[in-house]
Amino acid sequence: MQQAEKKNPLIDEHGRLIHKLRLQLTDTCNFRCFYCMPRQFKFLPSSQLLKANEFIEICSALVGLGIDEIRISGGEPTLRADLKEIVRGLSNLPVERLGITTNGYFLADKIAFLSQTKCRNINISLDSLNKKRFRMITKSDSFDTVYRAILKAKEKGLRVKVNVVALRGLNDDEVFDYIDFSAKHKIEVRFLELMKIGPCCCKHNGLFVPAQELIQRIEEREELIPQSVNNDSTAFNFKTSSGGKIGFIASESQPFCNFCSRLRLSATGGLRACLMSDAGISLRGRNKSEYPAILRSVIAMKPVERIEYIRQPMYQIGG
Ligand code: SAM
Ligand code: SF4
Repeated sequence: MQQAEKKNPLIDEHGRLIHKLRLQLTDTCNFRCFYCMPRQFKFLPSSQLLKANEFIEICSALVGLGIDEIRISGGEPTLRADLKEIVRGLSNLPVERLGITTNGYFLADKIAFLSQTKCRNINISLDSLNKKRFRMITKSDSFDTVYRAILKAKEKGLRVKVNVVALRGLNDDEVFDYIDFSAKHKIEVRFLELMKIGPCCCKHNGLFVPAQELIQRIEEREELIPQSVNNDSTAFNFKTSSGGKIGFIASESQPFCNFCSRLRLSATGGLRACLMSDAGISLRGRNKSEYPAILRSVIAMKPVERIEYIRQPMYQIGG
């Protein structure tokens, strides 16, 4: 069902239709990507995280109130021992789209399961096609594991996208390798601008690569054919003349706050209005009858203009 046809769509006072939920299953991660995880980090004790049934109940109520797309994230969501239970529960909800964002390390043996569920939109992070660089960025020696999982997920019919955070001097010379990868394997690759979040607040300038710079570089060699996207899409997409499918998420240089359609639920039950602000209200233990008012309050907290930076690291916010 299109949002416009819904009885009570969640529309804020700036005309933004709120219908997507980003779900942080955990803050824990087995990788240490330097731009996400600060040197000193501390994960929450698992006893503080919502249980599978709590996630499902909260999401069920939010779906009844207008959420129709859920993306599971983290930390690393595949570290949840009860991931299958959560995915099964979310798959039973009347959502139009269910997806997961993962570092891919524990993905391979979950592909058959995911194929049987609604959770078929798999975004996998792969910040370099070069093993050594991958290790340098993620502090994990698992390039082959992740790469194989990406190809297997595609082969088994899941809708796979590869996410790459563009990092000057570390992987920005790999754009054409990614385009070749995309053309060869028919997998969409999305280049994310590095955001001023957590450990990147201070070393942002040296590493940041604006999407337009990558686009210009690509256009020197290839034609980019724009593809249409929904107006609340965070990415703008192209086909390349060599057969690649690529997208850019230009959160820094071309923020999309005007069309933002997203709320976030933290691993401890906090409903959060914006990636860049910790404003929100906890839903944990709240009566479902309170949800409509809480939802209205949190939606009213959504900033209109882009907040410049946030010191809280991404693994804690839920990417
Ligand atoms: N662990 C999973 C993963 O890496 O895909 C899911 C959580 S991670 C926080 C979600 C996404 O956020 C990843 O694609 C990651 O590269 C991205 N990310 C983390 N910190 C970022 C930053 N400062 N700027 C842009 N993207 C960032
Ligand atoms: Fe972990 Fe994802 Fe953050 Fe990397 S980006 S440290 S994989 S949560």
